[in-house]
Amino acid sequence: MKNGKPCRACVDFKTWTRLEKQKSKPSSAKDSKTDTATSPASTATATAAATETATATSAKNTEEPVTEEWRKNNCPADVETLGNATWTLLHTTAAYYPEKPAPSQRESMKQFIESFAQHYPCWFCKNDFQQAMVMEPVQVESREKLSQWLCRRHNEVNVKLNKPVFDCSKVFERWLNGPPNGKCDQ
Ligand SMILES: Cc1cc2nc3c(=O)[nH]c(=O)nc-3n(C[C@H](O)[C@H](O)[C@H](O)COP(=O)(O)OP(=O)(O)OC[C@H]3O[C@@H](n4cnc5c(N)ncnc54)[C@H](O)[C@@H]3O)c2cc1C
Repeated sequence: MKNGKPCRACVDFKTWTRLEKQKSKPSSAKDSKTDTATSPASTATATAAATETATATSAKNTEEPVTEEWRKNNCPADVETLGNATWTLLHTTAAYYPEKPAPSQRESMKQFIESFAQHYPCWFCKNDFQQAMVMEPVQVESREKLSQWLCRRHNEVNVKLNKPVFDCSKVFERWLNGPPNGKCDQ
């Protein structure tokens, strides 16, 4: 919750539906979870909860069942969907960035990352990312430097969420070439 407004892109789907249900209850019936569930500190917990498979229920006003697949294609992004798609964009963009960028390409990449850090829809994710950029400004000198810089930023979030730390030596295998066994080429 920021400025009294709920932020759908800041919580996982389960937390969002719980908050929506609480909104429809009388205020005395609401419990203290309302405040904590939307705070950064609770996000790791909220994130873990969202990995559970959704139970199929009926969509409001339709006969279509609400499955994970349906939600993915029809609902606004939650913190996980948005995060996963964003990391895919960022790492892939870095993997295709020139090995020897021209000065104009460096400048536009720097602006791209700085603008991204201003506009990312999850406000506390954005705040942390901005702080990380102050500690270590974006490195746009080459594909390798940008990819490693992003890998470190992503690992900081992984640590915060108790997710496994990614081996940054494998960043091009993951985002550019695929594994040597050709599994991604079949
Ligand atoms: C800038 C930013 C800040 C975020 N901050 C928060 C936050 O504060 N709280 C919160 O709950 N969520 C945050 N998120 C979302 C969070 O990082 C995840 O995207 C989300 O939890 C979904 O996780 P996932 O398991 O799908 O994998 P993701 O973390 O989305 O990763 C996708 C894939 O990237 C690969 N990968 C993992 N780590 C690395 C790495 N270091 N380098 C390269 N590749 C890697 C793996 O193959 C993984 O499957 C943030 C996202 C972004 C883009």
